[in-house]
Amino acid sequence: MSLVPYATALALALPSYWLLKRALLNYMMRTYTGVPDLDALGKDVKDGKWKGKVAVIAGGSIAGLLTARVLSDHGFARILVVEPESWALSDEAADGVTRIGTRTITSSAGTYNSIAHKRSRVYQYTSIHVYQALLTMILRKLFGSGFDERAKGRGVLFARGDMNVRFSGWGLRIPYSEYPTSKGLSLPEILYTSRRTFEGVLRDCVRAFVSAGEKSPIEFLNGTVTDLNLSSNAKSIKSVNIREEGASATSETECDLFVDCTGATQAGLKMLSRASGASKLATLRENYDPQMNYVTIELPYPPNFEEDIAKIQIDSGISGKPPIDAKTAPWWLVFAPDPDVDYRAVFGGRRDNGIIFGGGGWASDMPVTLAQFREYAEGCKSDKPVPQWFFEIIDLCMPVADEATVFEAKINSCSRVCYERAADVLPSNFIALGDSTMRLNPRFGEGVTKAALGVTTLDGVLRSYGPSDNFAPTFFKRLAARTQGLWEGSKWTDYGRETTTPVPGETLNEGWHFRWYKSRLNRVLERDDAAGSALWHNLMYLVPAQYVMAPGIVAKVLWEAIFPTAPFVRRA
Ligand SMILES: Cc1cc2nc3c(=O)[nH]c(=O)nc-3n(C[C@H](O)[C@H](O)[C@H](O)COP(=O)(O)OP(=O)(O)OC[C@H]3O[C@@H](n4cnc5c(N)ncnc54)[C@H](O)[C@@H]3O)c2cc1C
Repeated sequence: MSLVPYATALALALPSYWLLKRALLNYMMRTYTGVPDLDALGKDVKDGKWKGKVAVIAGGSIAGLLTARVLSDHGFARILVVEPESWALSDEAADGVTRIGTRTITSSAGTYNSIAHKRSRVYQYTSIHVYQALLTMILRKLFGSGFDERAKGRGVLFARGDMNVRFSGWGLRIPYSEYPTSKGLSLPEILYTSRRTFEGVLRDCVRAFVSAGEKSPIEFLNGTVTDLNLSSNAKSIKSVNIREEGASATSETECDLFVDCTGATQAGLKMLSRASGASKLATLRENYDPQMNYVTIELPYPPNFEEDIAKIQIDSGISGKPPIDAKTAPWWLVFAPDPDVDYRAVFGGRRDNGIIFGGGGWASDMPVTLAQFREYAEGCKSDKPVPQWFFEIIDLCMPVADEATVFEAKINSCSRVCYERAADVLPSNFIALGDSTMRLNPRFGEGVTKAALGVTTLDGVLRSYGPSDNFAPTFFKRLAARTQGLWEGSKWTDYGRETTTPVPGETLNEGWHFRWYKSRLNRVLERDDAAGSALWHNLMYLVPAQYVMAPGIVAKVLWEAIFPTAPFVRRA
């Protein structure tokens, strides 16, 4: 019997398998992440399909500012950013003025000081914010080294994307070995900064970008977009009505591209429903209530902090790994229990020129002093307890406890507008991104990177589709593929807590398979490099969630389910 046919089949099978696998991975990266779009991002399009057109952006916050910057690469004759909050457009806002003092607040939890500021339309202005690696990459593409310079000038900390996370008490193996540098092992950088500092830096970057161009098409207008006017066949928006601040009447402005960046207001959907009258639009919005309460506590560094913290042994939660150098650790801990075990989560680390602690959860009480926060962290239940050194760090901060500023956040609404379902009634030049299409539970700290991912996706679609093409449906289809996992992951975790009110028509049982898998995966993350790497890259928006379902990882999760490392202690 000749072995030649078998040898030939094997010789063909191996490269074919390799090619197929590569093609599949490329497809998944292109479909479910924005990473492949980074290559072109920030590069000017000469004689593109949008040359000479007019864009109107409603909302000049994170999503609006990033959108204006991206559109400016596409030859638009005019990019008009309409923002109702006059202070947001002031030099003060771009100069990085973030507070006007403090005010004393008395709530059911106690009396405390909160930061007083002028950014009245952004509820979360003084809430803790965390960010992901994709965001840093996008900002560097859009603003070059200017972003780092401006941000560092305002105290923003750039450091490795390692927040010492504990899921259900278990550590996460971070893929340092995949990022060797001449100085040793490192990781892509993320920003450690407050939301208000970040917003100021972004405004400053856009202001610098506008003044650097000989004749920048970006204009800012203090006002509100009140209505969209459709073409006679309702296939596109031809103009918008704008009420300028202080004016009694609206004026009409021509518009070839409209981008809704109005955040939680989601004004685009309301205006579109009024203009189009299509009944389908009323069915696009999903909404649920996670009853998420959490508090942000900001502190200055106490005297001798660096000397004192250097004596504390911070571990990574991974057995056999050396302790973390406390002086260079940007963040000390994120302790996130399984929703089926406890409602509380706590976290803490460095930001800008100070310290930040956060704590809260589903239908949670709110600790509003450092002493209350310590007690709250002591109450956290998980497979493993909050590490003792975290309390030692809290104790180091007690001398400045009276200087704390506090923000209590209550999130009663998470929502997603499924525009991708409305290709047949959507005007071809209507876009929405940022919180205007999806407002996630902020417990997962993803909104800003998600807005940047939306803008990157828009850039990719603008490069191949013109105004008369299938523009908006293509954008929403791509965006949905890239963000649906964020919505489901966040919602299904929230459904693990009985205090959550689900989307009408759904029950809290939905997503049980996700919660089952995640609670077992958490234990695998601590001992398996491949699982740790897949989840870490996914959390940083660098690979699709499907990577965490690779066959090798699924097998280890199933093994954990059959032979658990420790008993699964559920709530009574
Ligand atoms: C408590 C809390 C904590 C959060 N923590 C994090 C975190 O840790 N990490 C993270 O990445 N994200 C976090 N987020 C989410 C993040 O802040 C948002 O995703 C982000 O601000 C979205 O940006 P945006 O530009 O879409 O909307 P926004 O920043 O809300 O801005 C909307 C803009 O639209 C303007 N506007 C409103 N109505 C109109 C109108 N009719 N016409 C024109 N303009 C209008 C407003 O003035 C505002 O400037 C948190 C959110 C909350 C509520």
